[in-house]
Order: sequence, then C-alpha cells, then structure tokens
Amino acid sequence: MAPEPPVKYVVRSARPPGRPLDLEAELNPEQRAVVVAEGGPMLVIAGAGSGKTRALTYRVAWLLAHGVRPDRLLLCTFTNRAAREMLRRVEALTGVETRALFAGTFHHVAHRLLRQYRDRVGLPAGFGILDREDARELLAACLAEEGVRDQRLPQPKVLMALLSRAINSSMSVADAVAHDAPRFVEAAAAIARVADCFAARKAAMGMVDFDDLLLLWKALLVDHPDAAAELRTRFEHVLCDEYQDTSRIQGELVDLCAAGHRNLMVVGDDAQSIYSFRGADFRNILEFPARYPDARVYKLETSYRSTPEIIALANQCIAHNAAQHPKVLRPVCAPGDPPAVVPLADVYQQAEFVAQRLLELHQLEGVPLREIAVLYRNHAHALELQVELTRRKIPYVVRSGLRFFEQAHIKDVVAYLRVLANARDGLAWSRVLKLYGGVGARSARRVADGAARQDGPADLVLAALAPELPGSARAPVGRLAALLARLREPPEGPAAAIARVVAGHYAEYAAGAFPNADARLEDLRQLADYAARFADVPAFLADLSLVAGIAAETVLQGEPPEEHLTLSTIHQAKGLEWTAVFVLWLADGRFPNLQALRTQEEEEEERRLFYVAVTRTRRHLFLCYPQRAEDARGLRTILRPSRFITELDGPAPPFERWAIETAPG
Ligand code: ATP
Ligand code: MG
Repeated sequence: MAPEPPVKYVVRSARPPGRPLDLEAELNPEQRAVVVAEGGPMLVIAGAGSGKTRALTYRVAWLLAHGVRPDRLLLCTFTNRAAREMLRRVEALTGVETRALFAGTFHHVAHRLLRQYRDRVGLPAGFGILDREDARELLAACLAEEGVRDQRLPQPKVLMALLSRAINSSMSVADAVAHDAPRFVEAAAAIARVADCFAARKAAMGMVDFDDLLLLWKALLVDHPDAAAELRTRFEHVLCDEYQDTSRIQGELVDLCAAGHRNLMVVGDDAQSIYSFRGADFRNILEFPARYPDARVYKLETSYRSTPEIIALANQCIAHNAAQHPKVLRPVCAPGDPPAVVPLADVYQQAEFVAQRLLELHQLEGVPLREIAVLYRNHAHALELQVELTRRKIPYVVRSGLRFFEQAHIKDVVAYLRVLANARDGLAWSRVLKLYGGVGARSARRVADGAARQDGPADLVLAALAPELPGSARAPVGRLAALLARLREPPEGPAAAIARVVAGHYAEYAAGAFPNADARLEDLRQLADYAARFADVPAFLADLSLVAGIAAETVLQGEPPEEHLTLSTIHQAKGLEWTAVFVLWLADGRFPNLQALRTQEEEEEERRLFYVAVTRTRRHLFLCYPQRAEDARGLRTILRPSRFITELDGPAPPFERWAIETAPG
C-alpha cells in the first residue's frame, strides 16, 4: 500500500482540547437521541436549520470521545466548504486532530483511497485528475475522430453529461442515451466507440476524471474482495450529510463501505434536493427504510436558524410541491421583520438597492459583512452587482462566477506542474508548448502524443523527443526542458515551483500576451501562497482539480472571509447560513428558469432551489427582481415577479412589498 497522502484539511482548535461534551446544554432531546444512538443504520430526515449538521458533528465528536479512532470514521458531505466547516466544528469540540478522519466530498475521499489502493485498480503512480473542462476537451478530440464518419453525434458538452449521467446513475451508456437523449439512439454504437476512445486516451495519459474517481472507488469495493474487506473493517462508522443530493453511485458507495458493521448514519432533507442535473437521486433517501428495514428514523422539528416569519414563508413555499415528506418545523428564534419583496426598475437599480441596503444593515444595524450573503441562480445574475460593489469599495468574495482557477494564466502555470508530476499528461504538454514562440501546433501535438508513450521525468522525455521536431522548435523546447530539469532537481514544494515557472518563463510570456500582465502575475503570487499549504506537487494538483471543478469556490482566501460579504450561487450555499440574505433576479422565466420548466419535476426542483435560498437566512430576507431587462442588442423585455412569489400572495402574504424610489439628483 502506498503511503498516506498528506491531508487537505488543516483546522485550528478554537477551544481548549478535550473539553467535555455538554450534550444537555448544547442539543435538544431529539438531537441527543441521534448523537448517542447505538450503531446500526439511521436516517435523520428533517427540515432546514433544524440542527441536522449539528447533530452529525456532535455524533462524530461523541464517537471520538468514546474511543473510536479518528481514522475509523468515514464522513462524506457535499461541498468543500461544508466539509471544512464541519471538521472545524469537530476539532473545536473535541480537540482531536481531524486530519486523521476520512472526511470530505465524495471525490476527495475517493482520491485519497485511490492513492492508497491505486495498484489494485491499475492506476499509475502520480495519476492525475482531469477537471471538467479538460475532460470535455479530450472528449471533443475523440468525438472529432469519430464524428468524421458519423455526423449524428452529440456535442461534447451533451455527451459528457450523458457519460456522467450513466456513471452516476449506475446505468450503461446505452441506457443513459435511451433515457436522456433518445434522438441519439441510432448513434449508440458510435457513442460507445467515442466512450472507449475517451477511456483509452485517459488511460494513456495516466489521468482520471471526476466520474472515474467514483467508479474506481466502487470497483475497489466490488471487484477486490480483499480491499473491500479492509475498508469495511476500517470504517467503523460511515456518516453522510446532505444525503438527499447523493447520486445513485454515491448511495451505493456509502452502502458498500458500511456493509460490514452497518453503522451508517445518513442525514438529509428531501425538500433541499437540488442536484438532479448532476445525477442526484432522492430515491436514496426515500428508499433508505426499505433498503435497511431495521433502520431507525429520526426527525428534528425545531428550527434554530430562522425567525418565525422566514419559516412561515419557507413552509408556504414548499407546500406547493406535491412530492415531499411532510415535515414540522417549529421556530424558536425571536420574531423579526417580515421578509421583503422588492421590485426594482432594472438590474442596475437592483444592484444599487442591494449595495445600499446592505450598507445600512452593516452600518446602522451592526450586521457584520460576513453575515450577509447575496444568492442567485446563475453566475451571470451577479455581474452588475459585482460592478456596483467594486465601485463602492464594498469588499466581497464570489463563491461562483468566473472561477479563479479557470483563468488562462492560472491554467498555464499549473500545466507546468502537471507535466512535472505526470509526463504522460498530453493536454498539459500542449498547453505549455503553446507558450513558447517557435513551437507550432504540429510540434506540440507530436510531443503530446510522444510523451504518452514514454516513461520518465518530463525534461528527459522532452529531450528525447526534441530531435523529431523541426529546427525552429528546438531552441525553445531546449529552454523548456532546462526549466523542467531545474524544477525536478532538487525537488521543491508547489509554491516554490510556481515561483520558478513564473521567473523562468511565464512572466516574460505574460508581458507579451496580456494587456493586464501585472494583475495576472499578482494572481500567480496568490496561487503560490495558496499552494504553500501542500506538501508536494501531486497533492496540490489533486486539490486544484477537485476544488476548482466541483465546488467552483474562490478558495484563495483559504479561511472563511472575515470582512467580506458573500456572493454565491444557491447551489454553493447549501448547508450555510447568514443573518441577512438577498436573493436576486426573482423574475419569472429567470428564476424559475424557463428552460427548467418543461416538466412538473423540473418546476419542483426549481422551487426547492428557492426554498434552499430562503432557508439560508437567519433574520433579514430580501427577495429582489428587476421589472425590465435589456439584452445585448438593446431589446427590452418586461418581467413579471417569479411564480414562487406570486403563489404566496393572498389576503395575508408572508412578506411585505417594498416600493423603491430613486432619490432626485
Ligand atoms: P440545513 O438543512 O440548512 O443543512 P441543518 O439542519 O443542518 O440545516 P444546522 O446547520 O445544523 O442545521 O443548524 C442550524 C443552526 O442552528 C446552526 O447555527 C446551529 O448551530 C444552530 N443549532 C442547531 N441545533 C441547536 C441547538 N440544539 N441549540 C442551539 N442552536 C442550535
Ligand atoms: Mg446541514
């Protein structure tokens, strides 16, 4: 077995270690029952803010306090932030170093296990992870090869979704095509060939994509009885938060890992299932009692998060969905102001209103900026607001939108590190070689293809291939080989490697390539700061592809921001809470999105998304919408309020309607 890779989560203790758990004072009786329960299968199903995550966190702390070793716990949650937050809380409670826990998103856990067991599933040492964009690019190349002969093939994006869907729902590609894209049924054979080509190219480069991580984890548990037995004994307790958003394969992984002692605790709220487009299947939660007839089902019915006014609005909203578990949610918070519905003239007024109102909350009512969030359905819904906040110098972090790690200069520099870690990574070679004048696309491709067939460090591979290249490419390729050799020997951490790449070539390249080279170099300095927390380059690269691709978070700040307001998509906000929440763009056709209204199920998922947004709020909720929109050609549309607002209207609506005027001058 390979040595354990360094763990990503570094958390600091907020309380003195080993403080005894005071369950009486900090939990209600329903939660206590969950925390101290005997093992065996357990389902906690309860509404938003009822303390599910808190109960799970205390359960982990309780198990640790009762002698369960940290590395015997497997804890899966949905987003990176939720995982970090949970581990921070466990460490604060127990003083136990939570690095030892197997905890994080499914993909993180999969990667960590596969690094240990890679020989069983046939992965090369230093295997890399393709992020979604790279995977799509590679698939497009395979499609292009196949598509010449068969014109009826889907676009790369569509095909990627189909392949992913097949894996996440544990069905064959043919079934996924029949189910999701029947118009391509006739091309099924060609699609299968493309899928094979895709798999072969990944294998040749020593790369896996996100879905492979889950698939290989499952293979480890299904096809390798010795490894499966080891893992089942090892994980004495398996715990999963946000269970309503697990896909079929994730549900199976949880079941397989717990199949030994069956100490499985899953926690969720079916009303918050919002990831069906990624294969989330809330049958996992609904059928749990059938899969585990001896399961104990726990309900938590007190809401600790939100004021009664917000709970009333949330309850009325979700009552419009037919498919749901009826749940009781009793507020304990003191009453507050009614939620506000705020019609604005257009997106600019919407941005001004949000900026002004949040400053009032901050300056007049003492709400810290970190306790304020602006949530929206799509990244693009926040662009005007970003401009307005920048103009007013209000600090904010975007937890979505243009992802830091997906900018060209970041990916360029990371590509050097990728070839350094895995010289068979053809995509990274192409990316790096494009940065050198004199190296044409043909030469780049020759190196990328040739490298896949060679073993050894990147500089030697490159030197071996150099004689095959045209004369004009030799000098630049020689420079690159020298830089790579220097990066390899003596080996350095990822932060030093980034600095060396920038000093050795990239700064010069950026100066010629980008009008704002200074800002980009500053980003690269931040990237190096971020990289400094990782022990080696592979650990850093794995983190990058996982964090950037799955969570789309701006993680550069590392720790949760203290003096910033948060801008986030609703999908990224699950499990979190703020004192004040603004929801943008609640105009019908935008939220709910017109494209997501073809079936009742889709409309219900949009409503759950709205429900998730509303239930992030502790006290102040603002539901905003522009009444007029203009497209790029200047075409005006009149917008109506979202059906999620109008359906709540009546003689005693659970909100107050605000009227906004623009002050003269
Ligand atoms: P979501 O469905 O949004 O994930 P949740 O059910 O996981 O919500 P938590 O995040 O665990 O809810 O709890 C919501 C808030 O209520 C948190 O601030 C938590 O600390 C607080 N809380 C939960 N239980 C209690 C309790 N027994 N006493 C005091 N505060 C509590
Ligand atoms: Mg939670």
